[in-house]
Amino acid sequence: ALYQTPDVSKPRYVRVNTLKMDVDSAVLELGKQFTVQKDDMVPDLLILPPGCDLHAHSLVTNGSVFLQGKASSMVAAALAPKPGWKVLDACSAPGNKTVHLAALMKGKGKIIACELNKERVKRLEETIRLSGAANIEVLYGDFLKLDPKDPSYSEHSLNFCTCYISLFLTSKELQVRAILLDPSCSGSGTAANRLDHLLPSHTAGHGADFNGSERLNKLAAFQKKALEHALSFPAVERVVYSTCSIDQIENEDVVQSLLPVAISYGFQLATPFPKWHRRGLPVFDGSEHLLRTNIVKDKVGFFIALFVRKDMVNDCKK
Ligand code: SAM
Repeated sequence: ALYQTPDVSKPRYVRVNTLKMDVDSAVLELGKQFTVQKDDMVPDLLILPPGCDLHAHSLVTNGSVFLQGKASSMVAAALAPKPGWKVLDACSAPGNKTVHLAALMKGKGKIIACELNKERVKRLEETIRLSGAANIEVLYGDFLKLDPKDPSYSEHSLNFCTCYISLFLTSKELQVRAILLDPSCSGSGTAANRLDHLLPSHTAGHGADFNGSERLNKLAAFQKKALEHALSFPAVERVVYSTCSIDQIENEDVVQSLLPVAISYGFQLATPFPKWHRRGLPVFDGSEHLLRTNIVKDKVGFFIALFVRKDMVNDCKK
């Protein structure tokens, strides 16, 4: 059943880029051609009939709406950054979730979008340009090499250079308060990848061990390092870890192995979208907090974990 082709009879989703257009105007405009409904769980997400092709629609080409699925749109929404926060998108290209963060923050505050791959940085910059977001700084480099104690991510005490700025800003405004970590993964939850699985490995072009255990182990090792690094930023209150993989080794296993570290930093798992009924595989106590989407039922297999610092959990329920 895991290898079934996704159901093309499922609806299409578009996310309204509220930096450029409000949701009601988008409903009105798209409603001239299609039946449009608002999603009842993810803010700013619209549901359109299956099979409608919007690639050339003016609202898409001018960046007023983004062709972004429900599962993908849940990731930045789960992080729920507040306007004015400083947020780090650790592995950001092509930037769909980065610009979603900017919209959720109403263009206020700052997003640092880190990306290791130079070619993909260009795509990230193009996505940012299309979105109209003006509060995103692109950082071409390795997230693992960012120093969590660097004043630009974690400033607590005021040094000479920041003292003038600090006359106007509280120190909290200099700190990274939320991290979105959507690292490289096998992509085993995506339709394209499922087709790769069905091809002989030499025609798939990824080598004999594509998505075999060696590749998955390497990816999981990187994902664990990246999650541990994200949790180590001293002022961070919320961390989202997400993949478009259906493999336990990249999902529940990564979270379970980092749980003791997370707890030692004062984090606990919180429940993104409590009304969503597909949760983590029941492989450890607490996996019910995790969110999964199903490749057949939801068109894509996504995974989301949300870590919140304990003393902030009540705060985020408000
Ligand atoms: N969040 C993106 C979006 O929704 O558009 C997709 C991110 S994609 C799954 C993972 C990205 O992480 C890739 O562009 C990859 O080049 C980048 N990446 C991998 N290792 C990295 C590292 N150590 N530091 C920063 N970026 C990295």
